[in-house]
Amino acid sequence: MKVGVLALQGATDLHLAALSDVGATGVPVRRPHELADVDRLILPGGESTTMSMMLDAARLTEPLAERLADAMPVLGTCAGLLLLAAEVGDGRSDQRSFGALDIGARRNAYGPQTESFETDLPVAALGSPPMRAIFIRSPIIERVGAGVEVLARLDGNPVLCRQGRAWGCTFHPELSGDLRLHRLFCEETA
Ligand code: GLN
Repeated sequence: MKVGVLALQGATDLHLAALSDVGATGVPVRRPHELADVDRLILPGGESTTMSMMLDAARLTEPLAERLADAMPVLGTCAGLLLLAAEVGDGRSDQRSFGALDIGARRNAYGPQTESFETDLPVAALGSPPMRAIFIRSPIIERVGAGVEVLARLDGNPVLCRQGRAWGCTFHPELSGDLRLHRLFCEETA
């Protein structure tokens, strides 16, 4: 299975390494024909405003919207989750979010870089031990629609969720060396 990692900006290399470690073929996606060629896609962390502009510049915005409308499995991490959200708070007025996840998320809601943190996050779907979750200028999910399944919470706030084939987390799963979320995303079909 070919799993693309949007590679316009942000934390791509460790996602590609994690994909190969779970037995998938990870490929960087920078152009429309590369997007057309993948079965699934990871939208990495980085800066959602910049990624939104770069999607436009690469002529990927509409092809990506079409693949998402066709229910391509997608995992958005941190900035990637913001790209998937229905509403983005404290964003730029021209930043695109695709609405594949019926959630509202507020950018940089924990504060600046100095408020970045790590924690052990229990995720029932991943079993034990808890996942080491690394939050870097992360958003907070403030609204969750009825069709969204929340898979993990931190201090009451959803931090990992899915809606059909769209998955999103507000932390960086590629940074901890724990491959369980990548494996689950690659294996799940519903
Ligand atoms: N604050 C970033 C944004 O708004 C997200 C940070 C991250 O992806 N680590 O896009």
